[in-house]
Amino acid sequence: MTKYVFVTGGVVSGLGKGITASSIALLLKSRGYKVFMQKFDPYFNVDPGTMNPIQHGEVYVTYDGCETDLDLGHYERFIDEELNYSSNITSGKIYSSVIEKERRGEYLGSTVQMVPHITNEIKNKVFEAGMSSGADIIITEIGGTVGDIESRPFMESLRQIQYELGKENTFFCHCTLIPHLFGSGELKTKPTQNSVRDLRNMGISADALVCRVPYETDDKLKTKLALFCSVPKTNIIDSVDVNNIYQIPINYYNQGIDEIILNQFGLPTKKADLKYWRELIETVDNLKGEVNIALVGKYVELHDAYLSVNEALTHAGYVYNKKVNINWIDSESLEKENIDLKDVFKGMNGILVPGGFGSRGIEGKIKAVEYARVNNVPFLGICLGMQVACIEFARNVCKIEDANSTEFDTLTKNPIIDLMADQKTIINKGGTLRLGNYECVIEKGTLAYKDYKQTSILERHRHRYEFNNNYKEIFEENGMVFSGMNPVANLVEIIELPNHKHFIASQFHPEFKSRPTHAHPLFMSFIKASISNK
Ligand code: GLN
Repeated sequence: MTKYVFVTGGVVSGLGKGITASSIALLLKSRGYKVFMQKFDPYFNVDPGTMNPIQHGEVYVTYDGCETDLDLGHYERFIDEELNYSSNITSGKIYSSVIEKERRGEYLGSTVQMVPHITNEIKNKVFEAGMSSGADIIITEIGGTVGDIESRPFMESLRQIQYELGKENTFFCHCTLIPHLFGSGELKTKPTQNSVRDLRNMGISADALVCRVPYETDDKLKTKLALFCSVPKTNIIDSVDVNNIYQIPINYYNQGIDEIILNQFGLPTKKADLKYWRELIETVDNLKGEVNIALVGKYVELHDAYLSVNEALTHAGYVYNKKVNINWIDSESLEKENIDLKDVFKGMNGILVPGGFGSRGIEGKIKAVEYARVNNVPFLGICLGMQVACIEFARNVCKIEDANSTEFDTLTKNPIIDLMADQKTIINKGGTLRLGNYECVIEKGTLAYKDYKQTSILERHRHRYEFNNNYKEIFEENGMVFSGMNPVANLVEIIELPNHKHFIASQFHPEFKSRPTHAHPLFMSFIKASISNK
């Protein structure tokens, strides 16, 4: 029988619920259990794919093409398991599915209501994840904080699951905040008591509390919390602020959270294998030297918009024991007339242009690519980054001066980046990009082959536009190498310039597959080239 762990949050948002859920999953996995993770987001978008990154941060993409909350990136990076469509459930998905069923006549004769129709739909999504993943334990994080209007149907569904499956199959971990008041020098438990009571008002009793706290709590405080919250003292876990995020699972392990959960489930507590994780912490704590990477994007004021790219760069730094300093450069600022790019990129060892949508800041990105190409600065382009690298090459090397993407100029005479034929008839914007895993065949003898050491790879995609193959020949005549192609649709996946120190770009998003314990080959070689470009 599949077991279910639910992670809720109270008091304030931003407590690190996602990291707590991931840490629990990591610890259970380290004890030999097959785990799967899921996130409930109570908003009405069907998925975050149509949201502005300013609203929501990065859109993470799973291998099967689901556009998801960025927390799923944390999950995959921590537990190193591929998640899928059942991993991100929004109110939008639930309600639209219920309304579609109603129209199909699946509830003929009934009044369709919040309980049981919406709640059954939510419960089905939980059980479906259990069945389709074949996992022993599903860890589900509930977005938002307890008491939010939007999350009520989710909480009601979880109450029903707790009632139906019993304590031996469900575990509720509630994350809260214990603030320190400077005046009295005390830690305050009242907000936690209140939020546990809010949870109980919804019929859910917490099995463990994970308390974000500035320093370790003492026995007296835990006794008080236990009494007021009806949670055993042993099940109250401190989540002390850390410098190294990878320390968190170990801190929880030291307090026995995984054993507490397994004991409640009546499952054997096999020995935990955390050696590789401790080695990672060692590495991160002992980095020597730095490398400076310029990241040229348009959401530089919001680093969450490029979260997986940051992570992937950082992971690649671990391989060479280097701290990666990411310097955020606003692409629009490069468009000013008299800007001196030498000044802007002074001290930068490598330049990265990440993915993006829309025309704002495009000319600035093109200037950044030109700077990297002409000055032999290591360059990595991702998705839009590859497309602008192609536009730059077309304009400045192939002398096709008005080359552009039809995304930015629908009437351009030289659409070197254009919509695929099957994209031209699409009307709905949501979920219709080219999404998820597609194969890429790599040409031997290229930089891409040197990186991957294999001729066939699978990488995750999220884009609508493609390199226009009508221009392939003229690009090749001018020195561009198309080192990776999709074999089915003959689409360009990787480009590179062999007469450059390190110039490579991909149509897919390699950052989604990078893990702290094994960095991605494209990021590794980019960081290596940047380190040697001192
Ligand atoms: N806007 C481009 C496209 O849709 C690139 C997308 C991206 O960078 N993710 O093709």
